[in-house]
Amino acid sequence: MISHCSSIEILRDLIKFKSVTPDDAGSLNYIAQLVIELGGSVQRIDRNNTTNLIATLGDGDKIFAFAGHVDVVPTGNIELWKNKDPFTLLQDGDDLYGRGVADMKGSIAAFLVALAEFVKNKHQTDYKVMLVITSDEEGDAVDGTPVLVEYLQHNNIRLDYCLVGEPSCVDRLGDTIKVGRRGSLTGAFIIHGKQGHIAYPHLCKNPIHDFAPALAELTSICWDNGNQYFPATSLQFANINCGLGVTNVIPGELKANFNFRYNTEHSADDLMNKTTSIFDKYNLDYEINWQNSAQPFLTQEGDFIPLIHRAIYDVTGVMPQNKTDGGTSDGRFLIHVSEQIIEFGLRNHSIHQINEATTLSDLNNLTKIYYNLLNYIFEI
Ligand SMILES: [Zn+2]
Repeated sequence: MISHCSSIEILRDLIKFKSVTPDDAGSLNYIAQLVIELGGSVQRIDRNNTTNLIATLGDGDKIFAFAGHVDVVPTGNIELWKNKDPFTLLQDGDDLYGRGVADMKGSIAAFLVALAEFVKNKHQTDYKVMLVITSDEEGDAVDGTPVLVEYLQHNNIRLDYCLVGEPSCVDRLGDTIKVGRRGSLTGAFIIHGKQGHIAYPHLCKNPIHDFAPALAELTSICWDNGNQYFPATSLQFANINCGLGVTNVIPGELKANFNFRYNTEHSADDLMNKTTSIFDKYNLDYEINWQNSAQPFLTQEGDFIPLIHRAIYDVTGVMPQNKTDGGTSDGRFLIHVSEQIIEFGLRNHSIHQINEATTLSDLNNLTKIYYNLLNYIFEI
């Protein structure tokens, strides 16, 4: 029975499932079974090779959702792991090792135990808690959270509070929550020139020379200064390829790509228009393809930030910082069905690494924080 389990026991079970993305390896059935034991209902929404779970407890109007993923990245060379077996939880003093302990089976275990305690102590069912869990966060993220979001939209379900259990902390548990994320926009382009002998430049068109002033302008623009929650928008080139590898030919074309990490001061359209206006200003003959893989998002203002700050401070004595840095997360999809959305989980210092680690004390404290949070949300 989950009501008699500690988070480390649940985590030990979860680590055993070899759920390398997008295979949940049976872990979603395990979670579903625990929710059913607590009196909840479950719904599977699978697509292609991805498995997804929505679980619901309680019948109140206000909805708090915990969102996350059971899939993990591959282990790498298992010989380099301390116990040569990343799918068996290793406890060494306070340290816990295993693939997914921090990203993010630890926070799922903590949340399940917090939820069991909350349900046991709450005599009315005037709350609604949902779990929104996928097996495709570490992979393409196409058949995972977007499918769950579609399901919620189709059923007119809006989440008043959505907590994404991603590992958000840096140096110690409680130091960081994520209140949004930057957008990511990639541009890949070709600039056409005319190839020819380097001694006869008047018969050629050199795409390196054509592009150079545009490159200088693009990389010296101050796109914005950031805002209260976000750092400044940044453009970085990742590749520029040109030339035949010889010394006597002017090349016929230049291929390059770059990426914007952008904040809520811009839309992707703004950035695309500004970029192409610079290409046009220098009369470049170009083709460009854009991929906007993530919109920036920011939680709505409300009581969620103060409540989670209080829940964290009461357990750890640490007052968290509100951040938006790092890569993208499934929060970019969940924002479409959430009023207030925050990411908070374990420390992220070892995620995706060999010997991914957390500690038993962090796991237990995270469980207490999640428990406090459920009480604070449904008392108000
Ligand atoms: Zn993760």
